[in-house]
Amino acid sequence: MNELYELIETLTGVGAARAKLYRKMGITTPYELLHHFPRSYIDYTNPVMIADTENGIPAAFRVTVRQRLAPSFVRRGFTIYRALVSDGISDLLLIFYNTPYTVQAMSSGDEYFVYGKLSGGMLRREMQSPQVQRVQDALLLQPVYPQTTGLTSAMMRTNIRKALSYLAQQPVETLPAQLLQGYQLMGLTDALRAVHRPENAKELEAARHRLAFEELLQFQLGTLMLKSRAMSQSAAAMRDVPLDDFYAGLPFSLTEAQQRAIKAICRDLCAESPMNRLLQGDVGSGKTVVAAAAAAFAAQNGYQTVLMAPTEILAQQHLQTMTDFLSPIGIEPVLLTGSTKAKEKREIKKQIASGGTKVVVGTHAVIQKDIDFPALGLVITDEQHRFGVAQRAALAEKGGTPHKLVMSATPIPRTLALIVYGDLDITILDEMPKGRLPIQTFAVTGPVRERAYGFIREHLDAGEQAYLVCAMIEESELAENLQAAETYAESMKTGPFANYRVGLLHGKMKPQDKEAVMAAMKAHEIDLLVCTTVVEVGVDVPNATIILIENADRFGLATLHQLRGRVGRGTKQSYCILVTDSKRDDARERLRIMSRTVNGFVIAQEDLRLRGPGDFFGRAQHGMPPLMQAAFCSNMPLVSETQMAAKQILEEDPELRSPVYQSLRTAVLQLFAKNGENGLN
Ligand code: ADP
Ligand code: MG
Repeated sequence: MNELYELIETLTGVGAARAKLYRKMGITTPYELLHHFPRSYIDYTNPVMIADTENGIPAAFRVTVRQRLAPSFVRRGFTIYRALVSDGISDLLLIFYNTPYTVQAMSSGDEYFVYGKLSGGMLRREMQSPQVQRVQDALLLQPVYPQTTGLTSAMMRTNIRKALSYLAQQPVETLPAQLLQGYQLMGLTDALRAVHRPENAKELEAARHRLAFEELLQFQLGTLMLKSRAMSQSAAAMRDVPLDDFYAGLPFSLTEAQQRAIKAICRDLCAESPMNRLLQGDVGSGKTVVAAAAAAFAAQNGYQTVLMAPTEILAQQHLQTMTDFLSPIGIEPVLLTGSTKAKEKREIKKQIASGGTKVVVGTHAVIQKDIDFPALGLVITDEQHRFGVAQRAALAEKGGTPHKLVMSATPIPRTLALIVYGDLDITILDEMPKGRLPIQTFAVTGPVRERAYGFIREHLDAGEQAYLVCAMIEESELAENLQAAETYAESMKTGPFANYRVGLLHGKMKPQDKEAVMAAMKAHEIDLLVCTTVVEVGVDVPNATIILIENADRFGLATLHQLRGRVGRGTKQSYCILVTDSKRDDARERLRIMSRTVNGFVIAQEDLRLRGPGDFFGRAQHGMPPLMQAAFCSNMPLVSETQMAAKQILEEDPELRSPVYQSLRTAVLQLFAKNGENGLN
């Protein structure tokens, strides 16, 4: 019997309640617990002196216990426990709330490592709720785990230690020996031990390298397998037809990038195997007209096209533009969404079934339901930035094989895109339509805010609109943020913008309510929209000319760029005002980059330079799987190395059927089968 694969409650120290919490995190066995990797480590290898350390900055100290103080009972259920310690030069008071154990275990003369933020004055420094470890059995690199309410890092460390003792009895390995040797990788058993209880930084690095290698390898294997499956299916090949009439009907001439994209797409549509192409272009680069050209090409070949958008308002917007582009050549797109009336829906479905309707625009949810397309030739998906592995698996699914085009507004540097979207052909629109006035971007400090408000009022008076993004850090902290957003909106409504129509948009609103607010903004029933970062990507309000972002230093470059893309969509000069009081170098560097360029690919490249590729894999908005370990590795070579390894493996065994690849195969299938969309099996 192998305890590693038993239920998590069989692990000593895990009761029913804790097992439930683990299950909520997707951890059901000790083996899975061992794959719950640390988010970071507290480094005790270079403890500092109390006197040299500023208040408020987390730091590690090595101290000796001088004295345990008597507990003070503040009131029922609230007791403070304290101990006085010293680093040899300065005294420090450790303070714990309602947790007696740490102080009770301390005796005068004991040596401890403590970690936390100092407070208090020069006479008596204090530290509240510090992390402590006895020096004799300390982990100098102490793991900190992604947590859930009720499960602390300390509890996880204890449970993982036990699970590691099982592992020591029953070693595991998922990669073939040949691969381990060839790429000089640490074995899995050692790597799991070392990532949770590293002896030193070098060992930790080697462990992470191995785990990152495996994650990336699985990812690359999955993408390559998807690609070869998609290739092997046949599709309706089209004839090359001229698009001159379509071009003649456009109100502008196409950029070279748009022409290149259309050419590549039409070439794909004429091929035997179905197209699987990603059209990547910054907001405003003009992806919709490329989609329209593809639809026109398909229609002239007698094929139907559907264009799917993530939300109703985006679908409506697409219908409008597609109609503008296609009606001159006699194609009238129809709209199909959740709010289409039942009777109308029946009529539309009938027309689609008869083959009379050539272009259908709608939301994913509605289009994917039982609609009979007799001549479906092309499916276009506007994913904006939500475009991950699961969607790609769905794209390559078996069965009906129309050509597929996905549009994404997230710029990723070309080198990285080639790797993470290895299963797709990629076209990048790296050129903006002519005559667009670049958005002017300013980074200002808080005291200038009043002047910025005045500037915004002038533009509102001129009939323009603006966004105010307030200081939301993460959507997950919404409980307080929600209130902050509402309070902020209220203070704007009663203060500097009392004479204007102020709206509010935040992440906790129902989807319909969000859409209603965006629709009101679009219809100019709102002058100023106070919002969190949720402000809908892709919604076009050409009349909005200013976006002011509070605490801009808290956002990454990618987010700032997406936010800035809300303006500059019309012909008027637009402005982006980044408010910050941060003095940190990295924050300032980011804002400098924002002020210097509006090119999303340049910004993505800079982001890559500043943060390393790990963050690209780790960030949800790229739709990447959570490659936890890869996120720590900031070396591009690892990415290409795993791609090479994946190619070699698949050449030898295209479906990973051989026993040595069994665990890899299982892992790849799991990775690519999220949300019940089984693209690979
Ligand atoms: P996105 O890539 O963000 O989806 P859109 O397709 O919405 O961009 O295009 C943004 C705006 O630019 C639209 O108003 C569109 O009509 C316009 N546009 C697209 N291509 C050109 C072009 N070549 N010249 C001028 N305007 C263009
Ligand atoms: Mg768009």
